[in-house]
Amino acid sequence: MSSLRFQAVRASYKKKPIPVDVPKELPSEYFGELVFTRSKMKQYLDKETYEALTECIDKGKPLSAAVADKVAAGMKKWALQHGATHITHWFQPLTDSTAEKHDSFLEYDGKGGMIEVFDGKVLIQQEPDASSFPNGGIRATFEARGYTAWDPTSPVFIQGDTLCIPTVFLAYTGEALDYKTPLKKSLKALTEAALPICKLFDKRVNKVTAYLGWEQEFFLVDEELFAARTDLTLAGRTLMGHESSKSQQLDDHYLGFIPPRVVNFMRELEISAYKLGIPLKTRHNEVAPNQFEIAPIYGEMNLSNDQNQQIMNLMNFVARKHGFVALLHEKPFAGINGSGKHNNWSLGTDTGTQLFAPGKDAMGNLQFLTFLINTLMAVKRHNGLLKASIASSTNAHRLGASEAPPAVISVFLGQAMTGILKKILEVPSDTPIEIAGKKGRKLGLVEIPEILIDNTDRNRTSPFAFTGNRFEFRAVGSSANCAGALTTLNAAVADQLTAFYAALAKDIAAGKKLNCAVMDLLKPMIRETVDTICFDGNGYTSEWQKEAKKRGLDTEKIVPKMFSAFTKKDAVDMFARTNVYTEKELIARNEVKWETYVKKVQIEARVLGRMATNHVIPAALEYKTRLLRSVELSKEIFPREYLKQSAPEIGLIRETSALIAEIRSKVDALIEARKAANVIEDIYKKALAYHKVAESIEDIRKPIDRLEEIVDNDLWPLPKYRELLFIN
Ligand code: ADP
Ligand code: MG
Repeated sequence: MSSLRFQAVRASYKKKPIPVDVPKELPSEYFGELVFTRSKMKQYLDKETYEALTECIDKGKPLSAAVADKVAAGMKKWALQHGATHITHWFQPLTDSTAEKHDSFLEYDGKGGMIEVFDGKVLIQQEPDASSFPNGGIRATFEARGYTAWDPTSPVFIQGDTLCIPTVFLAYTGEALDYKTPLKKSLKALTEAALPICKLFDKRVNKVTAYLGWEQEFFLVDEELFAARTDLTLAGRTLMGHESSKSQQLDDHYLGFIPPRVVNFMRELEISAYKLGIPLKTRHNEVAPNQFEIAPIYGEMNLSNDQNQQIMNLMNFVARKHGFVALLHEKPFAGINGSGKHNNWSLGTDTGTQLFAPGKDAMGNLQFLTFLINTLMAVKRHNGLLKASIASSTNAHRLGASEAPPAVISVFLGQAMTGILKKILEVPSDTPIEIAGKKGRKLGLVEIPEILIDNTDRNRTSPFAFTGNRFEFRAVGSSANCAGALTTLNAAVADQLTAFYAALAKDIAAGKKLNCAVMDLLKPMIRETVDTICFDGNGYTSEWQKEAKKRGLDTEKIVPKMFSAFTKKDAVDMFARTNVYTEKELIARNEVKWETYVKKVQIEARVLGRMATNHVIPAALEYKTRLLRSVELSKEIFPREYLKQSAPEIGLIRETSALIAEIRSKVDALIEARKAANVIEDIYKKALAYHKVAESIEDIRKPIDRLEEIVDNDLWPLPKYRELLFIN
């Protein structure tokens, strides 16, 4: 009997909810307690320093060394009062996680004692020994060292005993080595491109802000069971496992009763999040068993993305306290839904206008359509690139797998919006676009329902959906840093808006009225997008694949090939115009992507090979031995008719032997394929070779899962899906 598995199952079943320390104050009272917020800046900095810092945050004005010292002194005082002993520059390298190197505040005071020190220099810049972060060759030379630099627009926070300073991570030659830098550049491009257009509609607008509301999906697995599965511990997903008899077919998990142990985990996660100023709002069960989702109130994009990174770290930590491991992998289990991270994306002005929501009057509606249609154009033009921006070896299991977004980027608009766009094509350009009147009362030729949110049917198969006042980029993977996808989307839309504004300004200078000029420009864009990138049907069907190809959309299914979209001329030019990535950065980042792809598949292939050899085959052989012994005994007792007597065993022996042989030969072939791939120098070609390896990984699981079905349950060494997937 495999004791490890049964011990784990028993231990997991006996677990009770872990009590949570709930603060006495209300969440609104301790919210942001561990963040150096504006009110704390005011409290801990003198007036002059406070003003200089807010100018720096709001307007990008540089901080002098003297002011930086004063800011650091204020932060230090606050941090020490909250038990901090260390400081770290917290950054987002091109890995799946954040990075931090802690230094204590402790220094010699020069008088024989010790003292806590933290000054402006340490606040503003650090040089972590960063040579081992992925950089795609940018940091290969000795001169090209890396440094981290404070991002004053992201507030400083305390995690445990450490004061965390959000930073960007750059090479000394200027190239970005992280996710945050390009995200910030893309936000600058996007908000600056949107501003002059907004000003044409409303002179009072001085600032446009981009927002993000992420929805983080994840699985929880009991830690004992997790520990008994090498594939989960090393690859983050199960590489084998027969489907449980009951899985998600009853739809009883989605929005169902949250198990008490999980509620306590979520409670504690929320309390920690609130202290860090992360406004978690929603928690619920997802479709698959053991799958859950949390989502915050949306916020400024750079900050909201930092918070998502923080939450991903926190989840792991808090889950362990409750006896779980949080799985952020996009597809931890075959045969049931995977996890994504919907990115709710929108723009708003400092006058309170949501640019993707219908306006208050005809001009407001025209502005709304301007932003909507320009976004459609950007997504159409860069659909292959946007797909590349969400592609990864792990998200590949979701894409096109008949559940989450298909491997084609299209936009879901909904009937109401599509109807409005088509109507616009039929009316003169000076037709006012009205808000629909109460039932039955017609106001104008083109009418928009005031609240589109309730009107947009919820098409769940679309990778990019308009949901009434925002777009939902749903193709982003649950383990991804959202910045990868958002940077591309922001840049593409920024570039489109800039071109649109240039054309518009020209027409207005030539004497056209604003409303006619806008409509005249929008009409051909509607014609170009409404029957190409817009698609309201079921994105999972094979007909859509064919149709998408006809429409000229990118239908590439092979992940390493998708990445190439980043270095095509159209993309390089777009990123250069928007000042988001240089060509050198794009090339380097693709190298990192291919390298990461290779390494992840390589790890999976190794893990699978070893599990097949050390876990699966021995269990199957043990089972076969039992069967053979049974036949032998039959022969002793029924010497003449033992073959008939033992027919079932003999059938099972034959099947087991055949499956073992199949696994053995496929694992050998996998090893050979890896060996051949490993000697390929060119990283792109190597990634393509590893794509083949990835395919055979899926193929090897079939005979293994069949063995799981027939081998004596007592002999099977690995926790089965039915044990992993149902939290008591
Ligand atoms: P659903 O799953 O029904 O789409 P959720 O409540 O799970 O909705 O998540 C919606 C997310 O979208 C939340 O994070 C919410 O704050 C965010 N959101 C709502 N309105 C906007 C907006 N205008 N811009 C950006 N994000 C938004
Ligand atoms: Mg949503």
